[in-house]
Amino acid sequence: MNERMSAVSLTQRPDESAAPSGCGPLLPGPELDTKPLRQKVFEHVRATGQAARADVSRALGISAGSVTQVTSDLIERGYLQESDEAARDRRETGRGRPSVALSVVPEAHRVVGIKLSDERHTAVLADFAGTILAEAMLPTPAVRKTMDQIAGETAQLVDLVLEKAGLTISDIAAVGVGISGLVDPIEGLVPWSPLLEGENLALAERLTRRLGCPALVDNDANMLTLAELWFGAGRANSDFAVVTIEHGVGMGLVVGNRLYRGTRGMGMELGHIKVQLDGALCRCGQRGCLEAYLADYALAREAGTALGRNPRNMASAQSMLDTLFAEAKGGNMAARSIFRRAGRYLAVGLSNVIQLFDPTLIILSGERMRYDYLYADEVMADALSLTLNHGRPACRVEIHNWGDMVWARGAAALALGHVTDTALGQAA
Ligand SMILES: [Zn+2]
Repeated sequence: MNERMSAVSLTQRPDESAAPSGCGPLLPGPELDTKPLRQKVFEHVRATGQAARADVSRALGISAGSVTQVTSDLIERGYLQESDEAARDRRETGRGRPSVALSVVPEAHRVVGIKLSDERHTAVLADFAGTILAEAMLPTPAVRKTMDQIAGETAQLVDLVLEKAGLTISDIAAVGVGISGLVDPIEGLVPWSPLLEGENLALAERLTRRLGCPALVDNDANMLTLAELWFGAGRANSDFAVVTIEHGVGMGLVVGNRLYRGTRGMGMELGHIKVQLDGALCRCGQRGCLEAYLADYALAREAGTALGRNPRNMASAQSMLDTLFAEAKGGNMAARSIFRRAGRYLAVGLSNVIQLFDPTLIILSGERMRYDYLYADEVMADALSLTLNHGRPACRVEIHNWGDMVWARGAAALALGHVTDTALGQAA
């Protein structure tokens, strides 16, 4: 058992305190080769938080002369700055010291990241260095909405977060928005979302018009994965997967430091892989999806029976789950069996992810991770018993419970990436 357990090792990481300073991927990905030198230099400085010219030269394998030229251009354009002391030194002597630290000018650009959800929307406002300046939350009725309603709620939330930071929309370079469902981030289309009425909706265009600021949309699990890549444990891992269980079951995949999106915005839908032919009905309309056994609405459906309550009379799936969890902790065997069963389905999902992608790390992330039955040792043992192993090194599984704002932070990273590409990329 112990030997077999070694292929999935579980680490609790409740916060980001162990993460290094700066933001953005720490390891260069293959796509970096196509970026202009100025963007590579800027992103290296942002990723490390602070870097001397010599460090940049070493890390990127370019000459000291090139670094000097590129950094003075970036300083002139208002994207990088020297420490105050160094700048004074340069003014007085006309020469900078060689080990002067460079950092990003935080106010060069600001972005808003938003996660649209079924019960409450969340937002963060971040500067160009990735520092979060303000957060906001907007409760919303848990019903499907028209695109106009969602655009209206998004605008309301953007106003809230701007007000908290004492800024206006003209201070914002882009707004990143994460939403569950199928999303085509290139075209800004939402072919299908459980939050929205209708199909093939041009959400990015509608939001851009309503907000008066460029808006980008992407799948919410991708936003969570970007949050790990930019701010969390994923920063130092070039190949990893993020699995999340919230209202649905989502997944994101990073290959070579880059978010893998598939070709039609339909990939990584772990919640809709089939685990049972003709099985339980999923909210996507098909049967036997993993989500139909694992997501909160699936657990709430069973909880109603186990606890002798009508799910329709409960305030929300969330409160139903909290009650179920308390019952399970208190020894209610029916409640425990519901979590145990969900855990076995999670094990199937995880083993498929390991078998298909062979990542170095799987991060279980999201707010529901507090239901620790879902990642008990027996769930990991189940996942392992369903995976071919043959003595290969471990796929680590880490639990991250970052709280609700992590999604919005990932959406802010989406916007930061876009603004950086626009300002410093090939097209700039
Ligand atoms: Zn489904």
